[in-house]
Amino acid sequence: MSEVTRRDFLKLSAAASAGLVLASCGKRFNNYADLVFQNGHIITVDSRNTIADALAVKDGLIQSVGNSADIQPMIGPNTQVLDLGGKTVTPGLVDSHLHTVQYGKQTWGGFTDIRFPNVSSKDDLMRVVTEAVAQTEEGEWIAGNQGFMLSLSDAPDRWELDAIAPDNPVYLKHMGGQYAVVNSYALKLAGIDKDTPNPAAGKIIRDSDTGEPTGFLGHYTAQALVGNLAPGWGERSDQDLMDDIVRAQMDCLAVGYTSGQDVIVSSSRDVEAYKNVWKAKDLKMRMYLMQYVSSPAHAKEEVLAAKKISSAMLKFGGWKLAMDGGASAGTALMYDTSLPMSKVSYPFYKQEVVNQMVTVMHQEGYQVSFHCVGDQAIDMAIDAIEAALKAKPDSNHRHKIEHLLFPTTDALQRIKDLGIVISTQPNWVSMLSDAYIHVAGEEAMARFVPLRTMLEMGIQLAFGCDVPATPFIEPNWSFAGAVTRTTWQDNIYSPEQSISMMDALRIHTMGSAYASFEDDIKGSIELGKVADMVVWSHDLLTLDPKVDLVDLKPLSTIVAGQIVYEAETL
Ligand SMILES: [Zn+2]
Repeated sequence: MSEVTRRDFLKLSAAASAGLVLASCGKRFNNYADLVFQNGHIITVDSRNTIADALAVKDGLIQSVGNSADIQPMIGPNTQVLDLGGKTVTPGLVDSHLHTVQYGKQTWGGFTDIRFPNVSSKDDLMRVVTEAVAQTEEGEWIAGNQGFMLSLSDAPDRWELDAIAPDNPVYLKHMGGQYAVVNSYALKLAGIDKDTPNPAAGKIIRDSDTGEPTGFLGHYTAQALVGNLAPGWGERSDQDLMDDIVRAQMDCLAVGYTSGQDVIVSSSRDVEAYKNVWKAKDLKMRMYLMQYVSSPAHAKEEVLAAKKISSAMLKFGGWKLAMDGGASAGTALMYDTSLPMSKVSYPFYKQEVVNQMVTVMHQEGYQVSFHCVGDQAIDMAIDAIEAALKAKPDSNHRHKIEHLLFPTTDALQRIKDLGIVISTQPNWVSMLSDAYIHVAGEEAMARFVPLRTMLEMGIQLAFGCDVPATPFIEPNWSFAGAVTRTTWQDNIYSPEQSISMMDALRIHTMGSAYASFEDDIKGSIELGKVADMVVWSHDLLTLDPKVDLVDLKPLSTIVAGQIVYEAETL
């Protein structure tokens, strides 16, 4: 009964008390639970914030939640009964923004490791590339993983890379994914010179005097001109892609994500890879996919050809557009173009082109999601959603803006009025504020991820970790950013925007489930919902966020009633 719908299950549960029942199909089966948790501290995240001490699971779904006496009749001869000894259980975390395929390949052996902590400065980056050159045959590629953490003005350009790597093509991507830097050898192999036109949404950054490419490639489409030739970034085999997914999901489960939303599946091949992992029964966490679209032609071609996938484990949900780049790349699209974070910014599309793309997807009934960092980019996405809804009203569209780092007050009101979902990353507050203050300045930082304001306005919020565009996958960073607004250098940014741990947990479960139209089947521990749960090392509601979040970890992660990760035998 793994594919049973929640409605079927609720009907069945209502019809059957504990013991034997006769199903409508005529098959006889017992209604004893497969798994029972007793003596726990179960934070259900239901609408009444119920705390329970026992629950029962049947056929991968929650059969009952309550106290031990409620659950007792469901224990049969074959029921696995686990005593939690007072440990805390929550619904499995739903990550509303990560890149599973991309994250999974970061540890691939063919890459030069330029991620933190191996590289944390320009000197480190130059040293690591120099070492790689010494171990690589002339003419062979040096391809970094994703990637180094340096702002555009601190990173080496093509000529500095040429000095240490004159005879090897070099491709180095920034961690945030918004720019890459390559040397002259790599530009030559890709056939890029001063006359090469910029691809849609991308930019080959050029010297302002000579027009020569500097080696910096802004946004995915420009990076791909070189990246498609580089090992690990270009064509990967179907098996490679499947291995990337399987590797990534094990890290996700180990930190408590039972569902993930891969918001930049780069092509239909990646979608096929997910399908193949799922068909092989190797997909252990639930995935929701959104595919990247770069131009109106691409939108028409891909959107009309796409096939919807809708199962309990894998769904294809919609399409992702990028409205700007990132603060480190200098491509955050802000109204104030004097800021370092918007130094080389440019609108990726004209407004009417964005509207065209969104209209195609919206009319076909898909969810649309927008990468937006800067205030101007955010307004462009809101304008496009507003236009699409005017042409075809839909009160349940759930179109999303990802990140939403620097919204204006007016933008927040329009987001609320239009029912736009905000999928954001409070881990950026805890991990990156200390760097952002230098490129964003005081005024913009005062608007940085305003969680409490959005929560109090009733804006639908979702949380995700955004690996590999952030250095760490653990949700601890998101909880710390949301609850304490404190960075790892112990600075506090806009403490008035902090929210409670219960609110943060609700956003990371029900909120993120809402973002993928799945709040009716997951996100809380309630009758008939999927039995996706985490048993934690600490009680999330009484821990001291400034002290205990460092050590918080899952002891066990459960998907569909099956233990899929275990740090400690229960
Ligand atoms: Zn991302």
